[in-house]
Amino acid sequence: MKRFLFLFVILALVAGCHRSDPRNPYNLPIANTMEMYLSQVAADPNTELIDLEEIIPGINLHIAYATENNFTGIRIYTLPKAFLCRPVAQALAAAQDSLRKLGLGFKILDAYRPYAGTLYFYEVYPDTTFVASPRTGSIHNRGAAVDLTLICLETGEELEMPTHFDSFSDTASHLFTDLPGHVLENRALLREIMEFFGFHIYEPEWWHYNFTNARSYPLRDVSFEELMKN
Ligand SMILES: [Zn+2]
Repeated sequence: MKRFLFLFVILALVAGCHRSDPRNPYNLPIANTMEMYLSQVAADPNTELIDLEEIIPGINLHIAYATENNFTGIRIYTLPKAFLCRPVAQALAAAQDSLRKLGLGFKILDAYRPYAGTLYFYEVYPDTTFVASPRTGSIHNRGAAVDLTLICLETGEELEMPTHFDSFSDTASHLFTDLPGHVLENRALLREIMEFFGFHIYEPEWWHYNFTNARSYPLRDVSFEELMKN
């Protein structure tokens, strides 16, 4: 009888271990309440997610995931907002200042992405070259990655780049060179300015940049609405 009881306890423990939070099935260290987020910010102000429209007045945002016009075909974000952790946002602001002298600016395509988005993206497109694995989370979930392109400030028009945003193709890679000279120059200019201000390329996607020590920022799953209320 004692042996059966022991077996029962073991089985109950195993079952308990496998019962995972559907919002965090891989049990990652994710801050998914405002309380957790705010305690991280109190401990380290550099982990605060900063609204790019506040730190870079007039920044051009085109948040594809706040529309249906993205690879998932549905609206992922309820607000077209862009947030990045404080040092990342500050570096981007400095980069935009420097670009202004050339008559150019950034168009932000995506920045901080709540982890729920990464879970859903992988369900729709389970290829980890272009979509982050939910087992590790995305650098976007850490507010330390940004997707962006260049625009002419006067006309608002985008400079021609190798592909459109989220083109999951070889042409999107930094290694792809069979392109018109001006397109190669535009891609190189974006890279030059971003690297100067502490960002690093992600080779398969010309539009994606990770900030220095990007993995040191915490994973989050708090919504834009919650951040706006804060
Ligand atoms: Zn990205």
